[in-house]
Amino acid sequence: MSNSIIELLPGNTYRYTILSGAYSFLLLLVTGSYLSLILVYPHFSAFSIAIQLIGINLWVYWIHRASHSLPNQFWNYHLYSHHNKLLNLPRPVELVCEFFTDFSWFLLLLGIKTVCNLDFLSSTLILFVGLWYSLIHVLDLSLGNHIEHRIHHVDYHYNYGPAYIDFLFGTLKVDRNYTSDFEIPNGIVACVMLLGLKYYIQID
Ligand SMILES: [Zn+2]
Ligand SMILES: [Zn+2]
Repeated sequence: MSNSIIELLPGNTYRYTILSGAYSFLLLLVTGSYLSLILVYPHFSAFSIAIQLIGINLWVYWIHRASHSLPNQFWNYHLYSHHNKLLNLPRPVELVCEFFTDFSWFLLLLGIKTVCNLDFLSSTLILFVGLWYSLIHVLDLSLGNHIEHRIHHVDYHYNYGPAYIDFLFGTLKVDRNYTSDFEIPNGIVACVMLLGLKYYIQID
């Protein structure tokens, strides 16, 4: 644990509230839905997109949460190196490794979709949520101050992400005035990257 992070959490100021949870959910809902419509509508209906986004977010929430219960061994990189720093990698290298570790959770879902022919799932949406989620360390924690994820590094029982799923399962721990709007650029970057990819490759 880092004392410098704990000092950002004086007393019991940091608690989740219905207001902050609802606000985070609304921001993610509006931004994520709009960008998703740009990416896959009308190939997938608006209703299908909404269900898929919730499903993919539930997937990453639980796989991240599960990784904290799995053995602290090299193959569980997220715990072994990202949290416990047992490889002692330079920060830029660790950032890249963590990006691909997070992204691999979504590639696993993409693999299951492909093997099991789950045509109701959009590969584009899996990659979209995957990029958005995995960019947090690169864009928000390194360039900014992603308090929600910094708290996760102090106490890994909270804030697995996304915020509204944490709220649903009682694991969101943030400031009363917390908002998720700083994450919107991640979604836009992910959307632009995928629009570029879809220009060259056909992805459902
Ligand atoms: Zn982290
Ligand atoms: Zn974690």
